Amino acid sequence: MKDSILIVEDEPDVVDLLRYNLERAGFSVMTAATGDRGLEMARANRPDLIILDLMLPGMTGQEICRALKKDPETEPLLIVMLTAKGQSEDRVKGLELGADDYMAKPFSPRELVLRVQALLKRLRTVPRSATLQISGISLDKTNFEARLDGQRLDLTTTEFKLLGLLIERRGKTLSRETLLTDVWKYQNASVDTRTVDTHIRRVREKLGKYAGRLETVRGEGYRFSAEVES
Ligand code: CA
Repeated sequence: MKDSILIVEDEPDVVDLLRYNLERAGFSVMTAATGDRGLEMARANRPDLIILDLMLPGMTGQEICRALKKDPETEPLLIVMLTAKGQSEDRVKGLELGADDYMAKPFSPRELVLRVQALLKRLRTVPRSATLQISGISLDKTNFEARLDGQRLDLTTTEFKLLGLLIERRGKTLSRETLLTDVWKYQNASVDTRTVDTHIRRVREKLGKYAGRLETVRGEGYRFSAEVES
């Protein structure tokens, strides 16, 4: 499955340049020309990464960034901000609001593609923090220790990685193929994807009252629900 990128930018020339280079690098690309449309598409489509211009008609890039980062459903989406040259203040603001990287215009498309690839790779290989905590589930990635409501939870290393990945990318549906590649490191698509189903079932059994958070998305894969229970 291709990684998807949403470009939120109102200048058609910049959009064309980005689209051309990103598609050539193997990404699936969608675009929005206004801030409001960009936010709507980010929420509806959950791209893997968003390239977000600061100056937009309608909502500004900063407002969109703030809205995405305060919502647990969209908080994990990666954001690269595009800023005008020399406006270091904008850059700082963007990063404070939770953007993952920024590039000043005019930028080299090749460098932008490399940064996008590096961010996506980092997301898959290095946890954002040592401990993942969501509701009563806590995963300490430094020593592979899992806890459920404070009680030690016995997970195999594979189960731990599987749950960790789903929680890290919560709200997003991950296909069996993606899970096989990222958890089992299989590059070969002929490996039986039922392996994933078996492990998901075991993780669910161990999650007890939180089992429902690990959702099956029919025909697509699995998702850890980002919704906060009341
Ligand atoms: Ca603009």
